[in-house]
Amino acid sequence: MSDNGVIIVGAGPVGLITALGLAQRGVEVTLLDGADDILDEPRGMTYHWAVLAGLERLGVLDDAMAIGWLNHDWSAQIHATGERISMDIGLLKDDVRHPYSLILGQDALGGVVKEHLERLPNATIRWGHRVTGLDQDGSGVTVHVETADGAHDLRCGWLVGADGGRSVVRRELGLGFEGMTWDERFVATNCRGGYDDHFVSGYLVDAEHGAVIHKITQDGLWRHTFAEPLDLPEEGIEERIAAHFRAVLPEEDFDHKMLLWRHYRMHQRSAQTYRVGRALLAGDAAHVTNPTRGFGLVGGMFDAFALAEALGAVVLDHADDVLLDRYAEERKRVFWDYTTPISSQAKRMVFEPTQERLDAFREAAADPAKTRQYLLSGVALATPSLLGTMDLWETVGASPSLDALRGA
Ligand SMILES: Cc1cc2nc3c(=O)[nH]c(=O)nc-3n(C[C@H](O)[C@H](O)[C@H](O)COP(=O)(O)OP(=O)(O)OC[C@H]3O[C@@H](n4cnc5c(N)ncnc54)[C@H](O)[C@@H]3O)c2cc1C
Repeated sequence: MSDNGVIIVGAGPVGLITALGLAQRGVEVTLLDGADDILDEPRGMTYHWAVLAGLERLGVLDDAMAIGWLNHDWSAQIHATGERISMDIGLLKDDVRHPYSLILGQDALGGVVKEHLERLPNATIRWGHRVTGLDQDGSGVTVHVETADGAHDLRCGWLVGADGGRSVVRRELGLGFEGMTWDERFVATNCRGGYDDHFVSGYLVDAEHGAVIHKITQDGLWRHTFAEPLDLPEEGIEERIAAHFRAVLPEEDFDHKMLLWRHYRMHQRSAQTYRVGRALLAGDAAHVTNPTRGFGLVGGMFDAFALAEALGAVVLDHADDVLLDRYAEERKRVFWDYTTPISSQAKRMVFEPTQERLDAFREAAADPAKTRQYLLSGVALATPSLLGTMDLWETVGASPSLDALRGA
């Protein structure tokens, strides 16, 4: 790799999207991932409309839309009463280019990005390359890697840590992960069954049996995620999954089958900074949120869009690297000012519903002006071009007329 090349640690969705953005600009990029291929885990699957314009600019949106599906509402169902509350994303149709959420598993989305990346001669993905450490000096970064053939070092001009919540890059940079851990874990399952006839694709609101239940594919695969106290032992989760299903699914004719499950601790945490010298952080390596609002990967995608443009300009055009400080400051500010409060509010509404929280959601759904305002929440996660080539509204594919509504 040339002295100016970029190594990205982690070929998760954020690493792949950052790599594609850099490689399309002409940067030489190498992605390193400890796994053998894209991980198939029950995690991200719903992507807010505001992020779709960025995927379109990368040229991957059509392929992603061809294997995913478009959800036109944002809905909740009250477990105790069966009441359904729904917001029509189509209310934004005159103002935004993509008035819907894109739904597909993050592994499938990653697969689409990987295909596009593999067509570029200046991008390489090396699976089975686990990063164990790094050193940097004034001219570049040396990355220590373990592979099946043994340990060796790789050298690059710039390093991006997109290696997830337990980031080795973040640890090696000596950065902590400030914030809090929620008292519950999420248990996420992939299931089939008669969900279409009994549930909205969205929130199941209840203080005891709350869940996020989303249709993943049009042929009947659903993601059913519930929360349980973190102090319960990990042993016994499978029995508690069965108990949760008994409590919320109809007893008859549901034909339920669980295919996969994982459990996750939930946090609101961020590194103190997303830049140390020639190393940068993006995605879950930089910040993690509870996923109730579907803002984890969406926030990571906005990191990737901003970072690819800024780092590309530094590497290729000798732009002032103060751009990278601005990337770091902006993305951290967005995480604490918007991602965390919006995601925390959503989690409380679903899992700790109060009359006040539910009434606020009902009111937002009942009044088209309030619905439009609610649906703008994802715009706050975006960072407009740090080079000044695009304003906020162009970044998210929306009309500047929405500005008035945002401040309303
Ligand atoms: C239950 C659940 C539901 C979610 N739903 C949504 C949703 O609907 N919408 C949304 O936007 N977000 C959602 N999220 C959040 C989303 O899953 C994460 O934000 C996303 O995975 C972050 O992507 P990433 O690429 O930063 O990290 P990761 O996906 O964690 O990828 C990190 C990659 O780095 C590799 N790696 C790790 N360590 C090393 C190392 N030392 N060396 C080399 N490689 C390494 C790993 O193998 C992996 O491929 C959800 C999360 C959960 C848990």
